[in-house]
Parts: sequence; structure tokens; C-alpha cells
Amino acid sequence: MEPSASEPTLCGKSAGQVMAEITRFHGFPAPGVMIGAFMVDWAQEWIGRKTEADAIVETRRCLPDAVQILTPCTLGNGWLRVLDWDRFALTLYDRVDRRGVRVWLDAGKAAAFPEVQGWFLKHIAKRELPLDVLLKTIVEARRAVLSCREVVVTDFLRRPKKQSVGICPGCGEAFDPRAGDRCRGCCQGAYFEYR
Ligand code: ZN
Repeated sequence: MEPSASEPTLCGKSAGQVMAEITRFHGFPAPGVMIGAFMVDWAQEWIGRKTEADAIVETRRCLPDAVQILTPCTLGNGWLRVLDWDRFALTLYDRVDRRGVRVWLDAGKAAAFPEVQGWFLKHIAKRELPLDVLLKTIVEARRAVLSCREVVVTDFLRRPKKQSVGICPGCGEAFDPRAGDRCRGCCQGAYFEYR
């Protein structure tokens, strides 16, 4: 889809393209990931698109996927940290000087877009808010429902690298010896039974 004048671009892509990528990656065009895309776009613009940035998101819902779709930061490469705080906020920061910006979905500003606010605060039941209407409002609102402030990141920086690898006497598999005598699976109990 060609970006049109009325259609916003996000990280160099049209809103339609981003929606298609969200559908492929996330399974459906989730409103939270679409709002997250506007958040990532704003944060990236602020710190400079070429800055090598790490990301921290403050909820496990939706936002990690917006970061993984639009930036090189993933859970697997360790450039994305996910905090299970259930706050709809993310920070992108320069991994050298740790300066960056934090962007969040601002419940106060969302009042100007009742569909967005109703979805965010769960004031409107899902069946009363068609997905296409909500998505259209999100694209219209762009950054008007967001807030953004500069930050210096002081904690939750890059995860510590593995120092050494041991073999667990319980299960015979490789593990990080910092966990103790046995691996965390053996200490905490398995989530499965072998069949
Ligand atoms: Zn073990």
C-alpha cells in the first residue's frame, strides 16, 4: 500500500503496512500494538532513527511486539527488556550514554478520543467497540493520546552475560551455575511430565 498524504508514516512505513506486519507477527491487528507503533515511532524520532537503541517496556501486553516489529530490539537478542508492571509505557535509550525517552499512553489525553480511552480503561465492552472503529481512531489520534519525556536510564540495563556453563546433576542438562547446585528447573519443579 502506498502511503498517502493523510496516512501517517511510522518508522518509515505507512500505517497500513504497519497494520499488516502487526497482523502477521501478533496474529491480529491488535489496538495495543498499533498504539505501541506510534509510541516507538515517536521515541525513535526523538532519540534519532540512527541511534543504536535498547528498549525497555513496562508491560508484557502488546508493547513488546511493537518494539520487535519496528526496531532491531528483540527478547532473543537481549536489547529488549520487559518489565511485568502493567504500565503502558516504553523507553528507548542510547546504549552508550543511556539517554533516551519514555513514551506512555496518557489516560488524561485519551479522554479526547473516547474509543481509545474506553478501550484503555476497559470502560467500553469489547463487543460494543468494533475493532475497525477503534483502529481508525488510533490512527487518527496518532501522538495526541501519548506523552513523552526525556530520561536517563539508571537500572535494568543490558542483562548480564553468561559467565560459565555447568552440567546439572539433576537433569544432566547445561545450566548457569549462578542458579546454585542444580538448575532452576530441578530446584523449582518442572512444568511438564515426560510421556
Ligand atoms: Zn537440572
